[in-house]
Amino acid sequence: MSTMNGATSPDNHGKGFAQVAPPNSTGIKIIVVGAGFAGLACAIESKRKGHEVVILEKFKELKALGDIISFGNNAGRVFERWGLHDKFWAVCSHVETLMIHNSQGELLLEQPNPDPLFGAYAYNGHRGELHTMLFDYAQSLGIDIRLGQDVTEYWETDNEAGVIANSEKIAADVVVGADGVRSRARTLVLGYEDKPKSSGYAVYRSWFDCAEQGVDKDPMTSFICQGKDLFYGWIGKDVHFLAHSSSGGKKLSNVITHKDDADIAESWSFPGKMEDCLKIVEGWDPRCAALLSKAPSLVDWKLVYRDPMPTWISKGARLALIGDAAHPFLPTSQQGASQAVEDGVTLAVVLQLAGKENVHLAVREWEKIRYQRVRRAQLIGESVRDMWHKAKPEDRGNAVALPRPEWLLGHDAEKHAYEVYDATTKEIQEKGYELPTLPPVVPVAGA
Ligand SMILES: Cc1cc2nc3c(=O)[nH]c(=O)nc-3n(C[C@H](O)[C@H](O)[C@H](O)COP(=O)(O)OP(=O)(O)OC[C@H]3O[C@@H](n4cnc5c(N)ncnc54)[C@H](O)[C@@H]3O)c2cc1C
Repeated sequence: MSTMNGATSPDNHGKGFAQVAPPNSTGIKIIVVGAGFAGLACAIESKRKGHEVVILEKFKELKALGDIISFGNNAGRVFERWGLHDKFWAVCSHVETLMIHNSQGELLLEQPNPDPLFGAYAYNGHRGELHTMLFDYAQSLGIDIRLGQDVTEYWETDNEAGVIANSEKIAADVVVGADGVRSRARTLVLGYEDKPKSSGYAVYRSWFDCAEQGVDKDPMTSFICQGKDLFYGWIGKDVHFLAHSSSGGKKLSNVITHKDDADIAESWSFPGKMEDCLKIVEGWDPRCAALLSKAPSLVDWKLVYRDPMPTWISKGARLALIGDAAHPFLPTSQQGASQAVEDGVTLAVVLQLAGKENVHLAVREWEKIRYQRVRRAQLIGESVRDMWHKAKPEDRGNAVALPRPEWLLGHDAEKHAYEVYDATTKEIQEKGYELPTLPPVVPVAGA
């Protein structure tokens, strides 16, 4: 396992590049816009690869926002390589099985949750807590993170790219737009403003302390506070509800996805009404209403949909969109944050291999390496939602199981980028750069 002090490792496939290179050794300057998981991951791996990186982030101070977030084993592999396993593991939930019921409370599947899987751990925990740990780690590496920087404009020339943040012009070799689902960088790449549309679904979310809300005392809800982490799901027509306890059954996360065509912007802080939430589970297993009603407050998160962007990179290939800015995910994929991490890691590797004179080539290679894989991961979100929302009364076992394919969770983004770099370069040099194409839709596989 490498560390920030490590030297050349065989994992770089004999390319002679250090997997952890000396600071600023490539001469490549990168501006990363946004300090979410995408931006932090890109900056951390860029630092490891010897690039000079600055993060410009709009928020003025770091706050532990959000509720539950999932990192699959594919992202877990990256965190472990960075030496973060012990810290992350200590605050994450550890469930042995996922118990999936129908709306009447009949158990349809007890799905084992092996961890580690495909040689790496998964991390499911509080977004704010994990985000703070990653942010602190980036700072501990000496990454220049500037808060209170509102990036309003992006530009590029043949030789450089840059932004205007708080009226100041800043230049670099590459700009990475990691500015989230309501990205401004996206407008530069697309050449027009991309309007989100309603996906037809919304999610009520909550996260709270079980003892404070009396979950452990109520006979209808105490089943979820058994001194260990538990994961219960209920599925019905156009609805699924996931209740997940963590910290040894002391905290509870409720996430219920339901039909909603309201035309409002997506927000992680828009409050929801409990009476509306409870209407969704009228006539369901009474444990659902009992668990949901314990929440002291709710977030009403509208799931918006965007058509896949035709490209994630600017014409001059000095600006790349990563994470939610390029490809927002449905929560049922459980891959939004993981693919954001993979994006950042892959970009840092190809920039290292291409070198300062070939930044535009690296950015194009990055898109080529990432585009189809991300789309396949995105489609899992839609398939799982449809599998649960349209389940037939007789569906059991694999027919309702969360898919855990090896191509997705066994992937090592850093290793893969080193492996495919030469072939991808050759293809672009021989055929010229072509816009990526969407992969064929493959039906979702069971556990
Ligand atoms: C407040 C918040 C709470 C969330 N809670 C959850 C959750 O509970 N569960 C879950 O699964 N996912 C949650 N998410 C989404 C999740 O973090 C992302 O889907 C995923 O991690 C991909 O991250 P990202 O870095 O691409 O985007 P984001 O996490 O959205 O990060 C984008 C960053 O860019 C910054 N930014 C935006 N515009 C500008 C600008 N013009 N200039 C400078 N900086 C800018 C934002 O402040 C933000 O820090 C949340 C996101 C946010 C912002």
